[in-house]
Amino acid sequence: MKILVTGGAGFIGSALIRHIINDTNNSVVNIDKLTYAGNLDSLVSIEKSNRYVFEKADICNKAELKHIFNSYEPNFVMHLAAESHVDRSIDSPDNFIQTNIVGTYNLLEIARDYWNDMGIKKKSSFRFHHISTDEVYGDLDNDKDLFTENTPYAPSSPYSASKAASDHLVRAWHRTYNLPTIITNCSNNYGPYHFPEKLIPLVILNALEGKTLPIYGDGKQVRDWLYVEDHARALITAINKGVIGETYNIGGSCEKTNIEVVNIICDLLDELVPLNTGSYKAQIKHIADRPGHDKRYAIDATKISEKLGWSPKETFESGIRKTVLWYLENQKWCDNVKKNKQEES
Ligand code: NAD
Repeated sequence: MKILVTGGAGFIGSALIRHIINDTNNSVVNIDKLTYAGNLDSLVSIEKSNRYVFEKADICNKAELKHIFNSYEPNFVMHLAAESHVDRSIDSPDNFIQTNIVGTYNLLEIARDYWNDMGIKKKSSFRFHHISTDEVYGDLDNDKDLFTENTPYAPSSPYSASKAASDHLVRAWHRTYNLPTIITNCSNNYGPYHFPEKLIPLVILNALEGKTLPIYGDGKQVRDWLYVEDHARALITAINKGVIGETYNIGGSCEKTNIEVVNIICDLLDELVPLNTGSYKAQIKHIADRPGHDKRYAIDATKISEKLGWSPKETFESGIRKTVLWYLENQKWCDNVKKNKQEES
């Protein structure tokens, strides 16, 4: 199978491509615009594989997409390219509307034309897999309920609203044009190669640099954390075994408040790279809360577990230890990311 992955230079896309190249016989065409969040250094370990090709392209450019589809003739599309940072969507929503909504529309249209022109055999096995987030469901105001595939959409931020819009487009392209789609909605990911504007890498790197560890509000927001390699396995499971037109929620059944996560990271750093002066926890600083900040996300992943046989391999304890060790051992990747960030600003 030839899999066209969009956004493959990002955090989850690069984990997915490493998984496909290392653990399957499939080949990958990676389309990425290389925004501030895209980093080809995350793919160095597989870039020489003869089953891997990179094409720098913008999903907002239909002509580029059409050329890539016709040149490579993929069997599957796995669509991850997106603007993904909630704070950036609040400051400047335009890119989110363009990439997440218009870009997804372009990709659906190019994929529909391409699929319509396919021979019968290839046509029946083609899949368009849209990778989305649990943030489309809004938040939960108690500590019991879980998001299921039937939870109504109620996005809170420009990011989650743009992802919700893209999910609706994908559903409509299946219902109206029969495009063979699958949607997955996943909870918060963490792990190696995560851009350090997101909570976990930010806290690890700020702690090591002696900077403050900023916590929004009281830090009691609950997130359901999943190790990124478990997500990559879930995505391959969903595209291989998922039923056309269906949605699958993916989550780690691992709820933690943000302040708990930060304390766990500080405990690990205190053990692995102890300070002479005390604990890294002294660097924690509460700052003004994010506008519209969702209180709690929690996924019910029963459907993907029972119907497709996927479950996470990592616990939070094992995954966060691997993650902290990875950041300690991969200073070069961190330095390059920081350098690019400075050039951006
Ligand atoms: P990311 O920001 O790390 O990576 C996004 C990638 O998309 C980058 O490589 C970027 O260069 C590329 N990109 C952006 N705009 C593009 C465009 N117009 N054309 C082509 N490429 C473009 O994001 P991520 O955390 O890896 O998330 C990937 C997907 O998974 C997103 O769709 C996101 O909504 C979804 N998701 C993320 C999480 C999470 O916790 N990170 C959880 C659930 C779902």
